[in-house]
Amino acid sequence: MNNFRYFMPADCYFGRGCVSEHKNAMAKLGKKAMVVTGRTSAKKNGAQKDITDALDALDIKWVLFDEIGENPDVETVERAAKIAIEEGVEFFIGIGGGSPMDASKAIAVMAAAPEKGTDALWDADAKALPIVCVPTTAGTGSEVTQYAILTLHAKKTKSSIAAHIFAEVSYLDPKYMDTLPAKTTNNTAVDALTHLIESYLSVKANYVSRKIVEMGLSIFKDCIPALRAREYPADIRDKLMLMSALGGAAIAQTMTSLPHGMGYFLTYEKGLAHGMANGVLTQAYVEQFPAGDEHVANLLKCLGFADTAELGAFLDDVLDHEAVYTEDDLNYYTDRFMEQPGKIATFPYPLTREDIYHMYKKSLMK
Ligand code: NAP
Ligand code: FE
Repeated sequence: MNNFRYFMPADCYFGRGCVSEHKNAMAKLGKKAMVVTGRTSAKKNGAQKDITDALDALDIKWVLFDEIGENPDVETVERAAKIAIEEGVEFFIGIGGGSPMDASKAIAVMAAAPEKGTDALWDADAKALPIVCVPTTAGTGSEVTQYAILTLHAKKTKSSIAAHIFAEVSYLDPKYMDTLPAKTTNNTAVDALTHLIESYLSVKANYVSRKIVEMGLSIFKDCIPALRAREYPADIRDKLMLMSALGGAAIAQTMTSLPHGMGYFLTYEKGLAHGMANGVLTQAYVEQFPAGDEHVANLLKCLGFADTAELGAFLDDVLDHEAVYTEDDLNYYTDRFMEQPGKIATFPYPLTREDIYHMYKKSLMK
């Protein structure tokens, strides 16, 4: 067995009612919080009220920033950080999908070093004020990862900030997903699946990260019929939320790999939801491994698929991918992706520009 480090320091509470039951976990984080959400969902699903009720009960003051859009950009983070600094905010609570959770990490980095402005985001050693995460989608695992992904309009893509920030406390209450539409449920579930797969197949995987992935994949397998039927009883919501956190715990050790790096351009250029962007590239990515690769065989077995074609058919079934692409698009994405040596280095075999182009072509020109 190779030597490795396992590090995932977020204090996690799982279960229905966990915010109110374990609100004291926030008591030590500060006397004024900024609650960071998207425009509507946190109000509709009850998470925002649970958090503000808990803060009121703890006598912690709070301000609300509810303007985080999907795939948040640096400009929005900057706006929120300015308010947080003016208000003397001491900690942040990101409620929502990955977008508000990631944004809260980036805002907390900027608020910790007001003199640095957005430069703080690109400083790998930057510190952040404390964060609490409350996921309301089951996909990104941001509640247990150190990553915060922002849209960079200047570079026409998305990128992880350099600072690595874990939540201090995460509340995983599956009831917040009762309001989640089928489309978002499936896209986000596929994001979590791609975290599990990319982590498992990465050169950075270790014994523990692979065991975590195997557990996540077997839980995912139980959810496959519900994802196909687009019906999600409470026990499936529970499993999706747990599986997503396991995917997060795995990529926290290994980072993501090719589908994530390749998919950012599909999101930026064609508006594909993040999970869909990874999902449409996954069959071709797995097929890029040589026939007989033991880790590919294992992950298909954990999921109950006979081969990669069955995995691809499942992804086609649960994602509603309709975007249209040209040869020029594929060449542009390929050239841009080749600028990311970090992602390419996670793949255990040599990769050429032609391999990447071929993966895009196979995935997008079916
Ligand atoms: P999202 O962009 O956070 O949210 C997608 C949509 O779902 C929004 O319209 C949101 O509405 C809505 N929504 C969220 N929860 C809901 C609920 N319970 N009921 C009804 N609607 C709900 O989607 P996401 O896929 O979770 O996050 C994607 C972002 O996370 C991307 O930027 C991606 O790059 C990033 N990501 C981060 C990591 C990481 O490790 N940090 C990993 C993977 C991906 P509102 O806007 O009204 O809230
Ligand atoms: Fe992801």
